[in-house]
Amino acid sequence: MELSKNKVMPIRGKVQHYAWGGLSYLPELLKLPVKKGETYAEYWLGAHSMDSAELEPTDKGKILLKNYIDAFPKETLGATVAEQFGQLPYLLKILDVKDMLSIQVHPSKANAQKEFEEENKKGTALTDPQRNYKDDNHKPELMMALSEFWLLHGFKSIKVLERILHEIPELHFLVPVFGNGNYKALYQQVMEMPQGQLNRQLNTLLDRIVPHYQVGKLKKNKEDFWAARAALTYSKKGDVDRGIFSIYFFNLVQLSPGQAVFQDSGVPHAYLEGQNVEIMANSDNVLRGGLTPKHVNVSELMKHLKFEPTSPHIISGKPAGADIDIFPTAAPDFELGRIHLSKARDLELVSNSTQLFIVLEGEVKVTEKGSDGFARKKGEAWVSFDAAQSNLKAVENSVIYRAAVPAGN
Ligand SMILES: [Zn+2]
Repeated sequence: MELSKNKVMPIRGKVQHYAWGGLSYLPELLKLPVKKGETYAEYWLGAHSMDSAELEPTDKGKILLKNYIDAFPKETLGATVAEQFGQLPYLLKILDVKDMLSIQVHPSKANAQKEFEEENKKGTALTDPQRNYKDDNHKPELMMALSEFWLLHGFKSIKVLERILHEIPELHFLVPVFGNGNYKALYQQVMEMPQGQLNRQLNTLLDRIVPHYQVGKLKKNKEDFWAARAALTYSKKGDVDRGIFSIYFFNLVQLSPGQAVFQDSGVPHAYLEGQNVEIMANSDNVLRGGLTPKHVNVSELMKHLKFEPTSPHIISGKPAGADIDIFPTAAPDFELGRIHLSKARDLELVSNSTQLFIVLEGEVKVTEKGSDGFARKKGEAWVSFDAAQSNLKAVENSVIYRAAVPAGN
């Protein structure tokens, strides 16, 4: 492979067709032909080993961004990031959540390293569905809503959770288990409950609420709405999904477009509905707690969950210049930026490590110093490698998202 003289290039990401995805949002954004019966869940922009973005075809043919970065780590990532991470540290995604997706938690970096090693020693193949740790990395995540967005995020406060357990007759039996805030005992009780008992316990609840859901009488700001929807989506062959309990235990959060939430290791969460931009550390370590047909390993999940209340912290963009907002988090791996550029305005950019950009609205012209430049319209993306200098000019009023490594790295 040859090092290109250009440091700023158009790229194309990859669509993931998970079953929970929507039918039209991503095809419309990316101008893809819609296949009947196909779901469009995630658009990945990054250099993840499972599905890397591609540099847009040149006369050299198809080149994966991951392979290009692996071949020229210092030139693309810069010496510091190449040394510290040895790879592009983040993955940027656009999600369209039509059906709620699994309740999950991610391990800390230290735990991921330890557990990944242990599974390697045991000889569990990476492709084995029983495998819990796919790599040795943590997976903190930031998500910013592109539409009205609903999610579950962390345990409710003691007071609110006590009230829910009192209010819902079918959950009364958990009042003494939770006591004055014993989150672990509460969670353990429902996650380890035999399936038969769980069915009996939850079927009474579902028999009561599902008919209301089906005639449109439940509101999205009530747990019953999502519990009924989960039952219709995930309860198979008469067995009720135990994740339904968690809908009542976790904070039900509604975000407006532009609002973001950070999910650090140990915080349970689940996406329920809507579109978002998500940026995360380059990892695939997910431990699941229900609302899924996938592998649920309760003892592994319990190891990483923080059994404490979470008060959801809504993050808004902070201005970092006239046209850019950033969404700062504690993660050293990534930083999400949002550029609003009105028609005819332009912006000079200097890349710190590898940065990825995607246009969500409008059209821009991207010109690297000393080159002709290229146009990028809605749904189109580009990469800017370390120390590249470029000019961004808005052909129309434009909104662009930028994935970067935080300055200081
Ligand atoms: Zn997650």
